[in-house]
Amino acid sequence: MEQNITPVKSGNVRKRKSQPQQWKRNIEKRQRYSAKGLPVHPTCGHRVGYQCMLLTTRDIKDYHEAFYSTPEKSKQGTFILKYCRAEIPNPKRKKKDPVKSKSATFQYSIVNQAGNNLRVCRSTFLNILAPLTKHGIIGVFKRFKNGKSHVPVETRGGNHKEAKFGLKRDAVKNFICTLKASESHYSLSTIRTEHT
Ligand SMILES: [Zn+2]
Repeated sequence: MEQNITPVKSGNVRKRKSQPQQWKRNIEKRQRYSAKGLPVHPTCGHRVGYQCMLLTTRDIKDYHEAFYSTPEKSKQGTFILKYCRAEIPNPKRKKKDPVKSKSATFQYSIVNQAGNNLRVCRSTFLNILAPLTKHGIIGVFKRFKNGKSHVPVETRGGNHKEAKFGLKRDAVKNFICTLKASESHYSLSTIRTEHT
C-alpha cells in the first residue's frame, strides 16, 4: 500500500529535544559575561570631581551584582549605556565621531544605594565591573551606534546555521513530501492504528 509522506506532528517527534543552555558554546558565553571574583575597591582617592571614595562597600557590591545578575552581552550592554557616556574631549573637533575617534573619552557613573549617580574615574568603574574592559565598553557603543536601536545589537554568535541551512532544509522537506512511501511492516502508523 502506498501512502503520502507527511511531516510528523511536533508532539510525536522522537528526536531528542535540544537543550541550548547545555551547549558548550552557550556555557562559554555565560562564563564570558560572568563575574570572576569580588569587585575591587577604589584606591584612587578621588573625592572632588570624581566621587570614587564616596562609594560604600555595599554600593560597590550591589552595583557589581546588578551588572552580573544576567551574564548576557545584551543586558550588560544596556547597563553600560545607562551608566557611561561617550564624550568628545575637544568640542572644536565636534565633527569627529566621539565613538570612532581615538581620543574618545567616556564618563562613568555608579548608582549608590540612595539612588544617586556618582561620577567615578575609569579605573574605579572597571575595577568594580571587572573583568569588563574599556574595549568592552567601546564595543557596546559601536554596536549601539551601528544598530541605531536602544539596545546594543549582538554580533557575536547567533543562529548562523538557520541562515545557512534553513532554505536547504525546507527544500529537502518539500522533496521528501513529494515521495510516495510503501508501508513497511514496522511502520509507526500501523502500530499506532493497531493500538488505538
Ligand atoms: Zn577615582
